[in-house]
Amino acid sequence: MINGSDPFELASLIVAHDETNAFEAVVPPIVQTSLFTFETYDEMVATYRGERNRPVYSRGLNPTVRHFEEMLAKLEGGEDALGFGSGMAAISSTVITFVEPGDRIVAVKNLYPDAFRLFGTLLKRMKVEVTYVDGTDLDAVDAAMAGARLLYLESPTSWIMETHDVAALAAIARKHGAVSVIDNSWASPIFQRPLSLGVDIVLHSASKYLGGHSDVVAGVVTGSKTLIDRIRGEALPYLGGKMSPFDAWLLIRGLRTLPIRMKAHETSALDIARRLKALDVVEQVNHPGLANQLPPGLSGTSGLFSFVFREGVDIRAFCDTLQLFKLGVSWGGHESLVVPGEVVLQQKAQPNSAHAFGMNPRSVRLHVGLEGTEVLWRDLETAIAAARLP
Ligand SMILES: *Cc1c(COP(=O)(O)O)cnc(C)c1O
Repeated sequence: MINGSDPFELASLIVAHDETNAFEAVVPPIVQTSLFTFETYDEMVATYRGERNRPVYSRGLNPTVRHFEEMLAKLEGGEDALGFGSGMAAISSTVITFVEPGDRIVAVKNLYPDAFRLFGTLLKRMKVEVTYVDGTDLDAVDAAMAGARLLYLESPTSWIMETHDVAALAAIARKHGAVSVIDNSWASPIFQRPLSLGVDIVLHSASKYLGGHSDVVAGVVTGSKTLIDRIRGEALPYLGGKMSPFDAWLLIRGLRTLPIRMKAHETSALDIARRLKALDVVEQVNHPGLANQLPPGLSGTSGLFSFVFREGVDIRAFCDTLQLFKLGVSWGGHESLVVPGEVVLQQKAQPNSAHAFGMNPRSVRLHVGLEGTEVLWRDLETAIAAARLP
């Protein structure tokens, strides 16, 4: 069992052993195969009858993916985990497992935009209704949860980085007999372990910090054996969004450095957020680490935050002058990134969550990578100087 807030306590968990590794190599092999053969008829029939648990086909079970799943389950304190081909595959497979037509789910406002769109399109067509609530208003959440099947959380939320009392929200879901699910991509298990706060299911876009090198699109879900077995049995094989062996192998490598990467993102981003806040051209900085204290259960902060420019700054010139911060979506890798809110507000995808987001058109989202605080700050200062209107 993991407790305590020192991310380095987790270091022992990311050195998972691999029983299948005959050569005692420190890095596990990539079992890059679609199928696994049987020596005999009897072995095949025993496997089909469920008397033997061994790989048959990689859409179900693959040893490299399993290796990653076990590492991640240990980091989050889950009994089991399932790897998916993307964070969205993890989100859709999880939510669809636990709802039926006529059900209602409750979700916090300002969700990751594609989760919002899933709820507003496919889930709606399945006759599942979604009520959006202010995650900071526990009474409102409690009232909305009456009769709801599932509570969907994200803390901090996307873009505006609003934090919630995750343990209190999980307790409300439990009281109403609903399953609670949280997207923990932003904090990673280094800074927030929601299962220990009473949440039933934790999921990640592994494309972000878990991978950490911007070379993988993947997702993962963890929780109790009972709940994970339901997703494995009901959604994973038929929706088919399985993680690939090579991506699992890259993620195993990514997890080895997760604690030190998260500490580095935290230090640099917090420093830059504080310096931005002191500038006359900046109206507001949305970074959970600038509050008097972090919400209960969150022990640190990552590299992603947003801020709002005052009038008098040309945001286009700011973005185009930046050298180290590249214009680009996603985050969680080694590199620094910038996304202007006014561009996101023009996105054609429907339904467009940017408005539901409360997104300020003068806001900018930064991902602070691993390049080093001072060079990144010089980059920002230069770009701000170039973007000041006369
Ligand atoms: C990127 C992201 C997702 C979706 O993950 P993919 O791997 O891109 O499918 C989900 N939640 C959050 C918070 C994200 O940032």
